[in-house]
Amino acid sequence: MTMDTTNTAQNYLSDIYAKAYPETTPFWEAAEQNKFLLKSCADCKRPHWYPRVICPMCGSSNTLWTEASGKGTLYTFSINEKANPPYVLAYVQLEEGPTIMSNIIDYDIEKLQIGAAVKVHFQATKDGRSMPFFRLS
Ligand SMILES: [Zn+2]
Repeated sequence: MTMDTTNTAQNYLSDIYAKAYPETTPFWEAAEQNKFLLKSCADCKRPHWYPRVICPMCGSSNTLWTEASGKGTLYTFSINEKANPPYVLAYVQLEEGPTIMSNIIDYDIEKLQIGAAVKVHFQATKDGRSMPFFRLS
């Protein structure tokens, strides 16, 4: 898969999803810099995914952005072999705790297993957003 890294600045601004959820703008801005932001709660101290203005654990509106390590483990996955090209849908448990649904890219099918270490890798979608995907690490 190829990636256009020459013209990614603010491509999220033309993306319908990013525009529909303005509270997620800091996430998309950071994603274009290959940074993975999580929302954390300043009151109960727990991070959550997806980004929300209200903490889903305690209801506090005192949430803030923190940069995640981008590291995680494969919680579970499914290979769609009938797609062209085939792809891997996965839940990744982030090092910080939350679980995120994403795709595993550039994978070696022999090495895909639950519990495998993965790391985030951002790629631009055709809609403009830089999206977090994961690779085996
Ligand atoms: Zn909280």
